[in-house]
Amino acid sequence: MGIAIVTGGSRGIGAAISEKLAADGHDIVINCASSVEKAEAVAEKCRAHGVKAMVKQWNVADYAACEAAVKEIKEEWGVPDILVNNAGITRDGLLVRMKPDQFDAVVSTNLGGVFNMTQIVGAMMMRAKKGAIISLSSVVGISGNAGQANYAASKAGVIGLTKSAAKELGARGVRVNAVAPGFIESDMTDVLPEEVKKNMLGQIAMKRCGKPEEIANIVSFLASDAASYVTGQVIVADGGMI
Ligand code: NAP
Repeated sequence: MGIAIVTGGSRGIGAAISEKLAADGHDIVINCASSVEKAEAVAEKCRAHGVKAMVKQWNVADYAACEAAVKEIKEEWGVPDILVNNAGITRDGLLVRMKPDQFDAVVSTNLGGVFNMTQIVGAMMMRAKKGAIISLSSVVGISGNAGQANYAASKAGVIGLTKSAAKELGARGVRVNAVAPGFIESDMTDVLPEEVKKNMLGQIAMKRCGKPEEIANIVSFLASDAASYVTGQVIVADGGMI
């Protein structure tokens, strides 16, 4: 099968995506910002599926770091077939009180990181005339959310970037899609106050949070030949929230 890069693969949704793509038979590069030990544990689970897995730590917001990492991956394993832009952060706060650095950190990681990786890996995929790029947006990028102007802007940006890249790369056989999850169990949502979680659950038709594996299944589909005529799409998986 192919070679897949999963950014932010050390925890949560990214860990589930890494394991699912390994189960699908792909060799996996697991990126993280700092939790190398957790990423190594994910790599072990991937290897149990009989594929190769390696951990690479770099900051997706840093263009030069992305370039260096992708160059190493290409030299060690070859041109990636699948790129999953999953790394993301939150720095929540009401708009009128939000500090510029709260805005910049979220946009440079969640949107800048997607731009960096899509440009660098997308160029290689174009030359190879094949590839699938899947980026994690969020329902918040479609509907907005009080306290998350920075995050919502970054995730709306991911949708615009995905649709534009799909139009540019399609003729070279590279598909570009996004997944927009709702409220998924992970470290990112664990830290929310109980009151906020209760309120969120009240808005979900299915009356439960999603599981990382439920997002990984959609990424697996979009990365596969089963989705060979799907590009420029945003698949919402939110249990009927928006
Ligand atoms: P999470 O549990 O907080 O994990 C975030 C991952 O991103 C970690 O692996 C982290 O690495 C990595 N990361 C953060 N900043 C990075 C950087 N600058 N460079 C490289 N890696 C970086 O998050 P999650 O809940 O699984 O979310 C995964 C993605 O889904 C995010 O894009 C998020 O916005 C999106 N999403 C999540 C939900 C949800 O309800 N959970 C809903 C909609 C969308 P370290 O472990 O090293 O810190």
